[in-house]
Parts: sequence; C-alpha cells; structure tokens
Amino acid sequence: MGNSGAAYRGRFAPSPTGLLHAGSLVAALASWLDARAHGGVWLVRIEDVDRPRCVQGADTAILAQLHACGLTPDEPVVWQSHRETAYAAALQRLIDAGWAYPCGCTRQHIELAWRARGVPRERHTARPYPGTCRPDNGGLRGRPARAWRLHVGRVIADLGLPVPLAWNDRRLGRHAQDVESTVGDFVLKRADGLWAYQLAVVVDDAAQGITDIVRGEDLADNTPRQIVLQHALGVPTPRYLHTPLVLGDNGEKLSKQNGARPVVLDDPLAALAAAAAVLGLPPPAQNVAASLRAWSEAWRERWVVDPGIA
Ligand code: GLU
Repeated sequence: MGNSGAAYRGRFAPSPTGLLHAGSLVAALASWLDARAHGGVWLVRIEDVDRPRCVQGADTAILAQLHACGLTPDEPVVWQSHRETAYAAALQRLIDAGWAYPCGCTRQHIELAWRARGVPRERHTARPYPGTCRPDNGGLRGRPARAWRLHVGRVIADLGLPVPLAWNDRRLGRHAQDVESTVGDFVLKRADGLWAYQLAVVVDDAAQGITDIVRGEDLADNTPRQIVLQHALGVPTPRYLHTPLVLGDNGEKLSKQNGARPVVLDDPLAALAAAAAVLGLPPPAQNVAASLRAWSEAWRERWVVDPGIA
C-alpha cells in the first residue's frame, strides 16, 4: 500500500461549519508545509456536503484566512457540493459490485436490534450497525430505503483484505482496526439524502490524485474505513500523517463549544506561530513569508529527510 512514488499532491479539506480556529489552522499549516517540503502541490477542498452544518459565507472566509496566512492553493479550489455526480457514480459502482445495500433502519430500529441481542447502550461508545438490512439477512423486508451502506464484510472477503486492516501513520505509527466489528457497515449516503463524508472524501482524494493526507488526529480512526473504500473503488491509498490536536478549556479537542475563537486576520503571524508551536516547529521569523520558509525547511528535516516515527 502507499503511493510514495507519485509526485506529491496534498490537500487541506475544511468543512465550512465556521471559521478556521487554532486547531484547524494546525492541520492547514501542516498540510501546506508537507507539500512544500516535498516540492509538491497543495490543494484546498471545501467539504460542504453536510449542508445543514455549513455556515453561509464560511467557505470564502476560510479562504481569506488561509490567504492572509500565506497559504494559497496551487490549483482552483473544489467545492464538494459541485461533485454530486461523482459521488452518485461511485455509489452505483459499489451497488453494481454487490458491495452497497439500502438500509431502512431508523436510530430506533438500530437500538432495538442491539437490545434484542442483549447489548446495552454505553455512553460515548459507538456500536457498529447490527446488519439488519444486509441482503444476506433478508434486506429491507418491505421498509422504505433510507440510507445506503457499505457491506464491509463482503468487500473484505471478496478482495481478500487483511483483518484487522493495518496502516502506517507517519506520526502515529502502525495502527490496525477490524473495521467490520468496530464500525461495521458504515453509511455512504445518508437517510437525509446527503452524501456521507467517508464516500465524498475518498472519491475526491482519488479524483484529485492526492498522494498524502495530512489532517487532524481526530480523523485518524476514519482512516481504515477510507482504506476499505479505496480498495472497493479500486483507487490508491495515500500516505497519512495525523497532526496533534489543540485542546480546548475542558481538555477536549478544540471546538466552538469549548472556547475555539476564529483565527484573526489582522495578526496572521501570531496565529501561525501558535500552530507552528503545536507542530514542534521553531518560533516565527520577522514576517509570514520568512517564517513559512524557515518552517518548511524545519519540516523537511523532521518529516521528509529523517522520517522516523515520533
Ligand atoms: N472536512 C473534514 C473536517 O473538516 C476533514 C476531512 C479530511 O481532511 O479528511 O473535519
């Protein structure tokens, strides 16, 4: 697995649910530095598939923030809301292969199925989909289709993928997950008709020829699902580097709920310096351009020339 032979193409893929804050700027800066350190191309993709969560104008505001920080994409920005045809085509391919099926379960159906198996609900633990609507379990049984799910076990069996599925993160090292028992048949198209993040991100990373994904550590546990989908769609698996998270006042990942403030445009150097510190990079130089140059060099030495696992 891996794609290190191809010319480097990286990306930053913000969801426009608000402005960039200290946490999201870390991922933006790290992905930009990694692209520069590899002499590669850096793209920005606006991940606006989850329309109800998007804030109007946040996309252009994020692009302005990035620009103020000297982080400008090398190719035109792509909006996921313009990519529906590609997602529909990918889903159709999965359906044709027998790897996607319609699901008629509501949350309550899923809860009842687990209770019937004597599995209690525990707070903060995700349970895999119980497989109620899987074709080999009898399918929809007359219920209307709501969502589309990936038949994870069938993809793994048909393609002979290893269980658990292992991958190497450039910073976090080797990880492995049994996708079927841990997350199960995940959603590709949601009951509200919106495309699921997992499908959209895999289709777009492939369409844009992304070789390297650098993003926040909170997304690390999505990686094995995305690798299964990459195999199912016959596209390459990029390399991954998940960056450290910035914690909020309550010790959890920084978010609007726990004190994240937007990165201010009038002092981009201070915002970048804070992001650089999280990444273990030296203090800033006099201005944004000089700092970015110095950090690219430091990044190259740390992650490209001598890429031992931290
Ligand atoms: N759009 C996702 C987010 O803002 C990031 C997706 C990714 O980098 O894979 O959390």
